[in-house]
Amino acid sequence: MYCLTGMDTEVLALPSEDSLPLPRAQQNPQEMFEQNMERLSALLDSSPCPAEPERSAASSWSVRQQKASDRWEEARPYHLRCLLESEAVGKPLCCFCHKHAVIRCRDCLPEQWFCGACDMHNHSKRPLHNRDSVVDGFFKAIPPSTCISRGETGIYATHEQDRILPTMPAQHCTCQDPSFTVEAGKPVILITINGCYDLRLPRYVCQTCLQQWAPDVRDLVRSGY
Ligand SMILES: [Zn+2]
Ligand SMILES: [Zn+2]
Ligand SMILES: [Zn+2]
Repeated sequence: MYCLTGMDTEVLALPSEDSLPLPRAQQNPQEMFEQNMERLSALLDSSPCPAEPERSAASSWSVRQQKASDRWEEARPYHLRCLLESEAVGKPLCCFCHKHAVIRCRDCLPEQWFCGACDMHNHSKRPLHNRDSVVDGFFKAIPPSTCISRGETGIYATHEQDRILPTMPAQHCTCQDPSFTVEAGKPVILITINGCYDLRLPRYVCQTCLQQWAPDVRDLVRSGY
């Protein structure tokens, strides 16, 4: 920087590395000004300008989009093949008894394969699980009330069974030590984000006083419905 004390005075401070000639004190202010401006321009020209940072490929949205699109094009055949392979049933065995599996339950991963008996045992209290039948050689969604068993002839057959809406048990009688059984009660349709379920409300029977009751609204709300 220059430090000028007045229109007719000389320059007091200059950059030490400057090799350009100093302005003379006898020059008029206009000449001094022009000379100083020239020196300033020379200084600016001699100092290296920082180069504009190069725009890398990663900083460009369109280039990134193009690269992502190219990678997806490369990966798509493999993803499609994986998807098609996942639809092949194969010859799965029941995860529990190692018999021939007839049901796949997505909600029971990693133990997703069931024979008919193990399916009934495991899903009688889990009617909201996402089950598929595989007896026809492909995955076929089945409602919670459908079960599969093998007849004496070795042929698999489907049959219907009541499935009870899972609720928290609540006592409605005044017995001290109640023990009650649960039976299938009135039909009820449960609609959730996963679909529509034809179920039965539970009917509780107290084994002491033989009183019967079904869950009321309070019980259903407490159960999360
Ligand atoms: Zn089994
Ligand atoms: Zn399940
Ligand atoms: Zn009772």
